[in-house]
Amino acid sequence: MSEKIKITFPDGTHKEFDSGITGTQIAEGISRGLAKNALSISVNGEVWDLSRPIRTDAEIIIHTWDSLQGKSTYWHSSAHIMAEAIESNFPGTKFGIGPAIENGFYYDIDMGDHSLTAEDLKQLEDKMTELAKRDVPFERKEVSWDEAFEYFTKKGDQYKLELLNDFKGKQISMYHQGNFTDLCYGPHIPTTGKVKNVKLLSIAGAYWRGSEKNKMLQRIYGITFPTKQELDDYLFRIEEAKRRDHRKLGVELELFLLSPKVGGGLPIWLPKGTIIREALENFLRTEQRKRGYQSVVTPHIGNLQMYKTSGHYPYYKDSQFAPITMEDGEQFLLKPMNCPHHHQIYASKPRSYRDLPVRLAEFGTVYRYEQSGELNGLTRVRGFTQDDAHIYCAHDQLKDEIKRTVELTQFVFKTFNMQVTTRLSYRDEKNMDKYGGNAEYWDRAQKEIKEAADEMGLDYFIGVGEASFYGPKIDFMVKDAIGRTWQLGTVQVDYVMPERFELEYTGSDGLKHRPVIIHRAPFGSMERFVGLLIEHYAGEFPLWLAPVQAVVLPITDSQSEYAKSVVTKLQEKGLRIELDDRNEKIGYKIREHEMKKIPYMVVIGGKEIDSNTVSVRQHKKGDIGGMTVEQLIQRFSEENSVYSNTN
Ligand SMILES: [Zn+2]
Ligand SMILES: [Zn+2]
Repeated sequence: MSEKIKITFPDGTHKEFDSGITGTQIAEGISRGLAKNALSISVNGEVWDLSRPIRTDAEIIIHTWDSLQGKSTYWHSSAHIMAEAIESNFPGTKFGIGPAIENGFYYDIDMGDHSLTAEDLKQLEDKMTELAKRDVPFERKEVSWDEAFEYFTKKGDQYKLELLNDFKGKQISMYHQGNFTDLCYGPHIPTTGKVKNVKLLSIAGAYWRGSEKNKMLQRIYGITFPTKQELDDYLFRIEEAKRRDHRKLGVELELFLLSPKVGGGLPIWLPKGTIIREALENFLRTEQRKRGYQSVVTPHIGNLQMYKTSGHYPYYKDSQFAPITMEDGEQFLLKPMNCPHHHQIYASKPRSYRDLPVRLAEFGTVYRYEQSGELNGLTRVRGFTQDDAHIYCAHDQLKDEIKRTVELTQFVFKTFNMQVTTRLSYRDEKNMDKYGGNAEYWDRAQKEIKEAADEMGLDYFIGVGEASFYGPKIDFMVKDAIGRTWQLGTVQVDYVMPERFELEYTGSDGLKHRPVIIHRAPFGSMERFVGLLIEHYAGEFPLWLAPVQAVVLPITDSQSEYAKSVVTKLQEKGLRIELDDRNEKIGYKIREHEMKKIPYMVVIGGKEIDSNTVSVRQHKKGDIGGMTVEQLIQRFSEENSVYSNTN
C-alpha cells in the first residue's frame, strides 16, 4: 500500500490521497471544468506547477485565471513563449530576466546592434501565437549547478551565467518548452496552448540589473489573455487612460501648470483649474457647515518643537523638507501635517464635555519631500492642500462621530458617481508593539468602527495590519469611470496625539479626561482629487464644475450687441459665460468649443433676435433647440440644483 498524505482545501475540508498526487489529478477529482481552467497550485503557501508531485501533507489552493497567482503564472509562461519566439526570429539574442508584472509581462534582452521596430513586434506576436498553438508542455527539470552552468556557457548566455553565480552550490531548476530552455524557479502553466490573444505593447530601455553601470538592454512589454474579449477590453482601457491622462488634459484645458521654474511637484493652479478647485471647496465647506464643522486657517510653517511633540519630526524626516533655522536659533518646519496646529486650537481654552465634539476643518496646505523620480502630474506632488478636519470627542461619542464622517465621505463620492470599496484597517495582533495608545481603547474602537459600518450597511472588508501607528482607520478606495482603483480619503481614529499634546476636557464627573481625535479628509488632497476628476470625467465636467459653462456665439457682427446683453444676463445669475465674437465662421467656432468640452453653446443669429430667443447646443448632443434666455437660466439652475446652494 502506498503512503497517504492529507490535502486540506481552502474551505478547511480535507481528504487523503496517495503520496505523489499532482495538482492536475486533484483538480480532475473535483471537476472537469476546474481541471481545464487550472493554471497553478499553491502548496503550503508556495506556488507550484500542477504537474509537480505532492509528497507531504499540504494546504492547497488551485489557481485559475480569476486569481492573481493564476494570472501571474499565465503571464510568466507567456514571457517564456515570447523568449522562444525571439530566439526563433532573432537567433543569438541573449536573455536577461522575464517576469510577470501587474498587467502582463516583460523580457529584457540583448540583441547586439539591432533595435526592435514595431514591425518586429508584430512578427513576434504572430510567432508567439504559432508556438503557443503547438500546445507543448512546460517541463520542469531540477539540475545541478554545474549542469546549468555548462548549458548556458555552451549557449553563450552571459546574463544567465551571471544570475547563476548568485545561486552557487544550490539546487537549480530549468524549464523547457518547445525549443526554449530557461533558468527559472517556475511555476508554469501545464501547456503553451492556454496562451492565446497576444499583444506586445511596447519597447523600453532597461539597464541590466537596474544599474546605470551596466549595459542598456531592450525590454519588451506584452500581455496575453484567455479570451479575445478580455484583450480588447484591456486595449480599450489603455487607450482611454491615455485619452483621459490628466497631465495632457490639464495642459489642453488650461487647468494647471507644472514648471521647472517654479519647482518640480509644485503645481500652479491656472484660472480655469482654480474654478474647479473652488467649486469643490465650496461644495465641501457647505456640507461640512451643515454637519457642525467650524472652519479655521493656520500658517504654512510651524515651530519645529511642535513637530517634535507630535513625533512627525524626526520620525518622518526623510519625507519632509529640511527645517529652516534662523539666526537666533529658532527652527521652523514647512508643515507636513495640519494636525498639530489644530491641536493648539483645541488646547487654547478649557473644554467641557458639553463643548464636545469640536470639529475643526481647514483646506490646509502641506509640504512633503518626494523624490523627483516619484513626481507625477497632480497625483504625486511636493505641496498639496488637504481637505483636512479633526474631530475631538469623548470616547462615548466616537461611534456616532465615525458614522457622521463616513456618511459625509459616502455623500461626497456619490456626488461624483464613484463606486466605493471600504476597508476597515485593523491592527495586527501578532505585532502589538508597532502601535501606540491603550490596548483597551483600540479594541473598543475597532469594535465600534465595525458596528458603525454594519449599522450603516457598508460593503466592507477588513485589512489586518493596515491600521496606522496611532489608531484603527477606515480607508476608501474608489473606482473611476474606466474601472481603475484610487485610494482616497480616510477616517482615522487617534489615541496617541491627545496624550502627546496633553489635550483634555472636564467630564460630567468634574474630572479631567482625554478626548479621542478623528482625522478625516474625503478628497484626500485637492490636487490628487482634481487629477482623478479630470480622468474620471475625461475633462467633460458636469455643469457645476465646468470652468466655462457656456459660450455665446453671435453669427455675424450685427448680433454682437444682443449677444453681449445675453452674456450680461447670464453672468448676473453667477454663471460662468464667455463671449466669442471673433471674426470666424460659426462652424469653425462651434468645432473649437466642442473640442474644449464646453457644456453649452448659445448661438445667436438674426432669427434669434427677431424672436427674442437663443439657439442652444449641448456638448456631445448638438442642437437642442431655441429658448428664451429665462428658459436657459432655468435649465442651468436645474442642472446645478444639487449644488446650487453651494454659494
Ligand atoms: Zn521563467
Ligand atoms: Zn490629522
